Amino acid sequence: MGHDPLPAGVDPCDLPHHGHKALRLEEARAQMIAAITPVTGEESVDLRGALGRVLTRDVHSTVDVPSHRNSAMDGYALAGADLPAAGSAAFEVVGTSWAGRPFAGTVGHGQCVRIMTGATVPDSTDTVVMQEHVRVEQGRAVIESGHRTGQNVRPVGEDIRRGELALAAGCVLQPAHLGLLASVGVGVVTVRRRPRVAIFSTGDELRPIGTELGPGQIYDSNRYSLAGMLARLQAEVLDLGVVPDTREETLRAFETAAAQADAIITSGGVSVGEADYVTETLQRHGEFGFWKVAMKPGKPVAFGRFGSAYFFGLPGNPVSVMVTFYQLVQPALRALAGAADTEPPILVRATCETRLRKRPGRLEFQRGVLARRADGGYTVRSTGHQGAGVLRSMSEANCFIILPLEHGDVEPGTEVEVQPFAGLV
Ligand code: AMP
Ligand code: MG
Repeated sequence: MGHDPLPAGVDPCDLPHHGHKALRLEEARAQMIAAITPVTGEESVDLRGALGRVLTRDVHSTVDVPSHRNSAMDGYALAGADLPAAGSAAFEVVGTSWAGRPFAGTVGHGQCVRIMTGATVPDSTDTVVMQEHVRVEQGRAVIESGHRTGQNVRPVGEDIRRGELALAAGCVLQPAHLGLLASVGVGVVTVRRRPRVAIFSTGDELRPIGTELGPGQIYDSNRYSLAGMLARLQAEVLDLGVVPDTREETLRAFETAAAQADAIITSGGVSVGEADYVTETLQRHGEFGFWKVAMKPGKPVAFGRFGSAYFFGLPGNPVSVMVTFYQLVQPALRALAGAADTEPPILVRATCETRLRKRPGRLEFQRGVLARRADGGYTVRSTGHQGAGVLRSMSEANCFIILPLEHGDVEPGTEVEVQPFAGLV
């Protein structure tokens, strides 16, 4: 590893020890995930506080769900053997089975019980006829032919059986998982410690909100979008503020961050400008992984280690920060959090309504608005100006339009691949 600063304008990727070419995104993502060991340490949390946390142990059910044979409908429970093969049959109604208050008596031949959804199906019955299919005449339930023995009865353990795996270690708890755990009577779960992530912005031009901007200055927006994306991942964020463009202050910020955090995410200072000290600091004092990915926006992205912390050096432009976070950092942080599934979200195909300018050579993430057509297909249009500094292109978008590395311009009417920002989870 070289210890002299690079002359201005020299691309570190052109130096032999860094390899010559920008990595493909999938390759960069795979390298990062392979390099990451999940944080250790676990804690017990109440279900209510467990959303987004990662299970450290398999959860097996100690009960059957449901625990009792019960009705899927409001209706009448009877023995299937009593159903009429043709015409109709009248049944004497001998009582009611309510949800939580089972019918205590016995049901004989030619008899039935009024039953509510979720109520225990009485012992000598095995079939429920929904109330809409029953005529009640003088206290008797008249049922036509055409029903099937066993219908509308939910068996014991239909959802989960006692001893069965309910959720596996590595599961990132979503609302359905919380409900499932509650259904098997689990109120406290063991989850992995949250990853601690230190963030700082680099740049002499950056000012905090609430101060006047001087000439050439801008507000630091990256820490806010980063903190938002990290909150969604349930990471614990250590905000180290803005770090000026000096070698000394950059190194000090790295050291402060590495002393406290499992991962460090910075923005800015990863190009080869004269005031870009982030990559240099990593190269000199840390372990350098890669720093160039064939994607747009976001070509300069540094990955490595500093002390015991993983390091992600994102570019400064606000759109680049978000694109590189979603495409690279997010899967890596999921791996760090111990999530079993680090696959990127699903893609859909849509007809592009606008012309998109693109040069071959990089995988591009343009920002778009995805809409559903009346015929059930999807269309997507560009949010307009796609500059890496134009954050409105992100804030007005609901998806990335993903244009493959080798592709050129896209003409209206062409099918493109789209990654929606939001899913149901
Ligand atoms: P850099 O990667 O440091 O060369 O920065 C690239 C561009 O992003 C420059 O126009 C910076 O002013 C801008 N930039 C860098 N950091 C931030 C930030 N935290 N918030 C908003 N813009 C930024
Ligand atoms: Mg800068």
